[in-house]
Amino acid sequence: MERPPTKAARARQVIERLGEAHPEEVTALAYGSPLQLMVAVVLSAQCTDVRVNQVTPALFARYPTVEDLARASQSELEGLIRSCGLYRNKAHALIAACQAISRSGGEVPTGRAALALLPGIGNKSAGVISMHLSEERALPVDTHVARLAFRLGFSTAERPDEIEKDLRALLPPALWKAAHHRLIWHGRRFCTARSPRCLECPVRSLCPRRGLAPL
Ligand code: SF4
Repeated sequence: MERPPTKAARARQVIERLGEAHPEEVTALAYGSPLQLMVAVVLSAQCTDVRVNQVTPALFARYPTVEDLARASQSELEGLIRSCGLYRNKAHALIAACQAISRSGGEVPTGRAALALLPGIGNKSAGVISMHLSEERALPVDTHVARLAFRLGFSTAERPDEIEKDLRALLPPALWKAAHHRLIWHGRRFCTARSPRCLECPVRSLCPRRGLAPL
């Protein structure tokens, strides 16, 4: 009789199988520079990437540099990003982050630790930004990754940094970035919060469906 795979082996199989279903390993956010990526990631909190991509062209044209955003008027910036939600906090965070970057030379940092020190940039956003701007390995946990980590039986933690730690312990570093993207795409397309499509799911045979009613 075949023995069940270990949790680590199962995690690897899940991520590899998801790679066939979701081969995209790039963010859906549109950006052309480190600054633009940082801005887009901040705006994407509790907002869809599609919405962010609708808002950013005008924003990037109005504030092309760190200095421009550091000197931006809070109310004007709020007006440009209002449709992304949480616009007051996001405008405040962007201006404060750019002021801090400006004070330390004007270059957007690429390392996660330095990014996480910027006002308004949490550890998750710092991980997402650094993953795209540097070779630093990370597996940042957003709402999709957190939900899937639980349903797939990979983590019972609640805090994103603890979930990331659990996932990183199960997967080789070379798969962390892919795991981040594939779990997000799978969460959007199949394993949605309200109506997961388990019957059509490519990893159903590997998933305990923790927390969901029996099929
Ligand atoms: S089987 Fe269901 S719960 Fe498990 S990953 Fe697929 S959609 Fe999500």
